[in-house]
Amino acid sequence: EAKIELHEQRHDEIGDLLDVYRKMMVELENSFLQQQRFISDASHELRTPIQILEGHLNLIKRWGKDDPEVLAESLDTSLQEIHRMRSLIEELLDLARREKKDIQNGVNLIEETKKVINETKQLHPEAEIILVSNENDTLNAAISRDAYNQIVRNLLQNAIRYTEKIPNIRISLTNAAECHKIEVEDNGIGIQSDAIPRIFDRFFRVDEARSREHGGTGLGLAIVKMLVEKYDGQISVTSKVGKGTKFTVKIPDFNNKDGIN
Ligand code: ADP
Repeated sequence: EAKIELHEQRHDEIGDLLDVYRKMMVELENSFLQQQRFISDASHELRTPIQILEGHLNLIKRWGKDDPEVLAESLDTSLQEIHRMRSLIEELLDLARREKKDIQNGVNLIEETKKVINETKQLHPEAEIILVSNENDTLNAAISRDAYNQIVRNLLQNAIRYTEKIPNIRISLTNAAECHKIEVEDNGIGIQSDAIPRIFDRFFRVDEARSREHGGTGLGLAIVKMLVEKYDGQISVTSKVGKGTKFTVKIPDFNNKDGIN
């Protein structure tokens, strides 16, 4: 440390090397801090279901034999919490996995989007989801199929989760020379403007109770953003409270693998 200070003013090759070294140390320190924060966030989130589980198991132990109602209710809640914990752990693992991007073939966005829409409709038959695209377009994107499906799946899930009406969702796909645009627009509750900068943060929820009630973990959008950025895409959002929200994702064309400029 002292030696580095000593050479602070150098303007030769060694000075340049020291600069590089210093930048590397800052980066390393940041990634270390990020990892620490990740672990502390994750532990905090896992503590809640474990506490609930513990409470209900104690109830069962004390009253379960004499009170079948308590038994049935506590077992139900316990199973629900275990289910939540499992999704949380799976999503945390998704986030922690930092594989390199791997794309041998482009992904046909129209075809894949149709698949995810059908899948979602089976789970939520009440939802109205329309796809707007030009059948003559070839939207061949530089992304892995799994990553793209997960992006669309998470956005659709939120569009259905955060509405008080019958979900009415419009997905539009447009082709541009360098990148493709995917817009997911809903008629939901919307997001206040002061919350918008935080919705991609891990574990951020505008309304914790509502998110929990629908099985949300607060990780969906963090995963979406991580995936979009891994494939050199971009994501943005606009929203009107009480009207709806629109997410816009851009993904480079397969022939433009090096990213959007
Ligand atoms: P969650 O598991 O809570 O849904 P997400 O990371 O997917 O976590 O989203 C973070 C928060 O952003 C949500 O809790 C919700 O408050 C808000 N949000 C996300 N998508 C929408 C949407 N389409 N409409 C309104 N609010 C949304």
